[in-house]
Amino acid sequence: MFHNNNSNIINATPLNPNTMTSEQYIESLRKMNLKVYLFGELVENPVDHPMIRPSMNSVAMTYKLAEMEEYKDIMTATSHLTGKTVNRFCHLHRSTEDLIKKVKMQRLLGQKTGACFQRCVGMDAFNALYSTTYEIDQKHNTQYHERFVEYMKFVQENDLTVDGAMTDPKGDRGLSPSQQTDPDMYVHIVEERADGIVVRGAKAHQTGAVNSHEHLIMPTIAMKEADRNYAVAFAIPSDAEGVFMIYGRQSCDTRKMEEGADIDLGNAEFGGHEALVIFEDVFVPWDRVFLCKEYEFAGMMVERFAGYHRQSYGGCKVGVGDVLIGASALAADYNGAAKASHIKDKLIEMTHLNETLYSCGLACSCEGKATQAGNYEIDLLLANVCKQNITRFPYEISRLAEDIAGGVMVTMPSEADYRSEKVGPYIDKYLKGVNSVKTEDRMRVLRLIENITLGTAAVGYRTESMHGAGSPQAQRIMIARQSNIEEKKGFARNLARIKPQEEEK
Ligand code: SF4
Ligand code: FE
Repeated sequence: MFHNNNSNIINATPLNPNTMTSEQYIESLRKMNLKVYLFGELVENPVDHPMIRPSMNSVAMTYKLAEMEEYKDIMTATSHLTGKTVNRFCHLHRSTEDLIKKVKMQRLLGQKTGACFQRCVGMDAFNALYSTTYEIDQKHNTQYHERFVEYMKFVQENDLTVDGAMTDPKGDRGLSPSQQTDPDMYVHIVEERADGIVVRGAKAHQTGAVNSHEHLIMPTIAMKEADRNYAVAFAIPSDAEGVFMIYGRQSCDTRKMEEGADIDLGNAEFGGHEALVIFEDVFVPWDRVFLCKEYEFAGMMVERFAGYHRQSYGGCKVGVGDVLIGASALAADYNGAAKASHIKDKLIEMTHLNETLYSCGLACSCEGKATQAGNYEIDLLLANVCKQNITRFPYEISRLAEDIAGGVMVTMPSEADYRSEKVGPYIDKYLKGVNSVKTEDRMRVLRLIENITLGTAAVGYRTESMHGAGSPQAQRIMIARQSNIEEKKGFARNLARIKPQEEEK
């Protein structure tokens, strides 16, 4: 154990000696000295902050489900490093079956939280670093893989949540890291010492940063020799000296600060978050450095992490999609429109789109293969096709949900009005749908649809579908690279009876 503040993490007895209960997870964060800024102020107690806690509850669900017998197979796995049972979020995939279970686990969590549960970024980073460090060592005779294996044992044994951090602020997108006017636009090494390195920079829109015990930093683009100081991967505790986080705003976020706004929240218990994480001359000891200037491997690390995370979206977004489809069907039931053929057809279309996304998540997993290091990676072409569809279908699913919900989803009065003696009875009377359903329940389901399509969860469902795990163009570049057009030309030539040399003349 090399992080003092984490040394008391395991202080009760979970079902499994290697896993924390959800309560232990929350308590473990309470013991950390996290520096989180929100609305310009340092948050004294992030764990109990009403805007932060729902996102923490989503991560806690990854611990809670792992404790439940019925989900054991999907939520836990056997570590090949220790032979012990670990939470699947800390697992290095050993087969295509593991890759499939990962996607199923993410769909399950999307269904249970209706939000981004954040812990996948760490899992995807573990798997990308495990294989890449192995290949760096093969070429450079370095010890990164061995160090990383030790780090993984630490993570698995303590059941940690780790923020896999890739995206740098990037400044002028037309310039490489070393060409930027401000050298800090990409995380870089500012000093190399006998005992470690000192790094500076920032990582933008970091999913679950505030709810993570650790940050695992990777480069964000392929690099050339001039960028070698930017080719760096390392792990640090979230409360390491020089690290602080600035919490990202979300649409309708301050509703979480209001008293008596349970209905207005739509999903009062769960949420997600992103943060800007700053590294102000942070010292990293050598045993936590996993890439240091071997710039030609930056691209491999990026490609692998992005590939895994593009697979992930074929699980998590599908689970949240399930919630949205269910909420839309309830909204139709509650206003008496459920039997209309166009409503039924819209629900079919939403289901078709959602299951297509799931098919992509499963397909890239089924076609996965072993890396040189022995862990499994997904089929990169299919994972990129998966994410490309994710940049589109959740928008259409949201459009159909809004269509079914009707305008009342965004014009409805607040819970405070509903509870008011004076106007409450009028809301109760005029927002009523079918007789058998309480007005309050109709309001609740409409607010849930609002939350997923336009509110705080829209960050994780809608806009993150566009930009998370890379914006659409990043997938198109990968699809182009993997599409093997020459082979396809060969198929066509063959059938058209064109000899290759004839075409070349
Ligand atoms: Fe996991 Fe999805 Fe959130 Fe990424 S966006 S961390 S895959 S829930
Ligand atoms: Fe994401």
